[in-house]
Amino acid sequence: MSKGCDGKKGAHPFSQRAAGRCKAAADASYRSFLSRAAEIIGGDVARVKGKEGASFAPKPGGTALQTAPLCFCMGDFSFYGGMELRIGILGGSFDPPHSGHHYLGVCLREKLRLDKLLIIPAGQPPHKEKRIRISDEDRLRLCQLVFPENYFQISQIEMKREGKSYTIDTLTELRKELRRDELFLLVGADMLLYFDRWYRWRDILANCTLCAIARDNEHDAQQLRRYADEVLGGHKVQILSVPPLPVSSTEIRRKIAAGESIDGLMPPQAAAYIKQKRLYCEQ
Ligand code: ATP
Repeated sequence: MSKGCDGKKGAHPFSQRAAGRCKAAADASYRSFLSRAAEIIGGDVARVKGKEGASFAPKPGGTALQTAPLCFCMGDFSFYGGMELRIGILGGSFDPPHSGHHYLGVCLREKLRLDKLLIIPAGQPPHKEKRIRISDEDRLRLCQLVFPENYFQISQIEMKREGKSYTIDTLTELRKELRRDELFLLVGADMLLYFDRWYRWRDILANCTLCAIARDNEHDAQQLRRYADEVLGGHKVQILSVPPLPVSSTEIRRKIAAGESIDGLMPPQAAAYIKQKRLYCEQ
């Protein structure tokens, strides 16, 4: 955790709405700062932000925070109460998850300055040809092994839902818990181009920022931007460019079935799990 207080007036949108600000001893330790902050706001600490953007978010959303946004600096730390977290949502089959997914998650977290990235493995699709080859339990375990960092959170929200999962249903369910947070829905750029055919797409955009991931050189960023502006109304759509890693779940499944090595395509612990459970041995 890096230390340091930016202390700039108006540096954060909540600064203006700040209900109170105080400065205290420069030698206050991080822990005592946290407990003092909790004492002052009478609830949970939402976030403590250091100069270099490091953040600490034990428990967002204490009652005091929901009603009274406030911000203050104390010693080396600044505190913003009532502030939203930036939460990314990355869905996929993850059949299996691999290093390309992990790399994508790490890049997106950095580019979007996410506090948390939810990894949401899709439920079993209703049509047989898109069937997922392993159990939800195994997919979950593999996701945990591929995304070990604590800013990733594996969510079973779609696995637990019966029938077809619509994105708007997932968002609505997430919104019940994450009322104040800023949500970023991450989708492949190919999906952006028919987003206006997604079920209740306007409601989706009302609930999150849509981030289209253009793998480098694969898509024309200008064409994507034009579509986003002209068809989707623009302002809630971001186009992000991420250099892809040459790996796919299809390729991994093929290699395993052919008895080829998958070294380097996923972390060794995940590969060992697949081997031990004899997953994907048949195409
Ligand atoms: P499959 O080969 O079975 O189609 P996949 O490897 O493309 O699977 P998904 O689970 O469909 O994986 O992907 C989830 C998300 O991750 C999608 O948005 C997809 O575009 C992205 N993604 C998958 N592989 C990579 C990669 N190598 N680099 C960057 N993004 C990736």
